[in-house]
Amino acid sequence: MRTVAIAGGGVAGIAAAAALAQTGCRVILLESRPYSGGRAASYALPGGDGEIIDNCQHILLKCCVNLLDLYRRLGVDSQVDFHREFHYLEPGGRRSVFRAGLLPAPAHFAGSFAALHFLSAAEKLQAAQALLALRREHGRRADLDSITMRQWLEEKRQSPRAIARFWAPVLVSAVNEDLDRMAATHGFQVFHLAFLSSKDAYQMGVPRLPLGEMHSAHRLAARTGAEVLLRRKVTGVRTEGSRVRAFETEQGDVEADAFISALPFEPLRRLLPDLLDDWSAFDYSPIAGIHLWFDRPVTELPHAVLLDSPFQWFFNKQQGRYLQLVVSASRFLETWPRQQAAARAVEDLSRYLPEVRRAKLERFHVVKEVRATFSARPGLSALRPHPETRFENLFLAGDWTQTGWPSTMEGAARSGYRAAEAVCRLFGDPRPLLLPDIA
Ligand SMILES: Cc1cc2nc3c(=O)[nH]c(=O)nc-3n(C[C@H](O)[C@H](O)[C@H](O)COP(=O)(O)OP(=O)(O)OC[C@H]3O[C@@H](n4cnc5c(N)ncnc54)[C@H](O)[C@@H]3O)c2cc1C
Repeated sequence: MRTVAIAGGGVAGIAAAAALAQTGCRVILLESRPYSGGRAASYALPGGDGEIIDNCQHILLKCCVNLLDLYRRLGVDSQVDFHREFHYLEPGGRRSVFRAGLLPAPAHFAGSFAALHFLSAAEKLQAAQALLALRREHGRRADLDSITMRQWLEEKRQSPRAIARFWAPVLVSAVNEDLDRMAATHGFQVFHLAFLSSKDAYQMGVPRLPLGEMHSAHRLAARTGAEVLLRRKVTGVRTEGSRVRAFETEQGDVEADAFISALPFEPLRRLLPDLLDDWSAFDYSPIAGIHLWFDRPVTELPHAVLLDSPFQWFFNKQQGRYLQLVVSASRFLETWPRQQAAARAVEDLSRYLPEVRRAKLERFHVVKEVRATFSARPGLSALRPHPETRFENLFLAGDWTQTGWPSTMEGAARSGYRAAEAVCRLFGDPRPLLLPDIA
């Protein structure tokens, strides 16, 4: 039986491990932390009597077909609640709902789009024209990785208010980057796939289980037979000519026939600085999660976009008493003390949910993930590496590699499957593992 060693137990490493173990390989997954899941994990709240929280709310869409395939392999695909409605709140509390109607795609949002309160009739007309242009130019226009999404939107004469209220809430959270730093190619991918292709692709999946359980090492081992070694940091890569011989760890070398790095770019660069010609294009974009516990329910909505607010989006985690605000591309929060961030978030939230004014904040927890995702800036797409490397038996996975997707769990799952396919080819057993995008 051939052995594959995988470094990194995030979604990418888990996807590669699950797929390869199910093809009959012996798989050894090495993860430096005491738990798997990487950036999509859970931990015990400090001082919280063992209460487990996710590092930050993670959502998926129905078009995340490879992630859902991975969840099937892990037996947790039924643990995702899909929401058909996106709620938008204006300051003062007026609500608009975005949902698919009866018309076939791509006209399925026509009814709810026309009824949105937060855009003027002229802004809706302009946005509809831009959506038609996006459909026309998708796959045809050559410069989308050299311009920013904001440049494209301005070219299509979108007003600052339409950009801030219609385009930014979806794109900034999906790509985790500001519109003036985001390559237009990502904005196109998100809108084309999620909103213009099929009728249910946009539905938002919220895991019912903690991320730590969705992506648990124990589950991976039990369902697929992969061996998972936690607290096993890869400290070096032993090579011989064009082959990798072993991953080095403090507990000893791990030898294998093939190797996958499912590490983020920074630790991989430390291990193999010459692997890429130029690492300088890879940089981070931050996300902050602000967890707020109130003494009473402050909303009945499951989640909502907070229009015109820097705090962007809330998720109702526990009958309206525990809300989590997700702030994507959260650079402005980096210098704020956590207490100030929570206080400002509560103050801001009260503009949308009046009950917040009457409620008492019992506790808060602010998570600032400075290295949350890669920054999807123009020019990066061409530099993202494919699974193959100059070593014939070393392959790359990770959300930052060439997936066609922004930094997401779906991107990570895709990268894991692509690396697993490359290993199967090396072993003379080529087989498709990656599921194609739905459009
Ligand atoms: C706050 C936040 C919110 C997010 N929200 C969403 C969302 O809503 N939806 C979505 O789809 N995506 C979201 N993402 C992005 C998503 O979490 C990532 O794209 C995805 O989890 C990346 O998976 P990965 O396996 O490529 O990398 P990682 O999760 O970073 O996994 C890499 C693993 O390698 C391990 N490692 C590092 N060095 C070593 C070493 N030397 N030896 C062994 N192991 C090592 C790490 O501990 C880690 O477990 C969010 C990310 C963050 C941080």
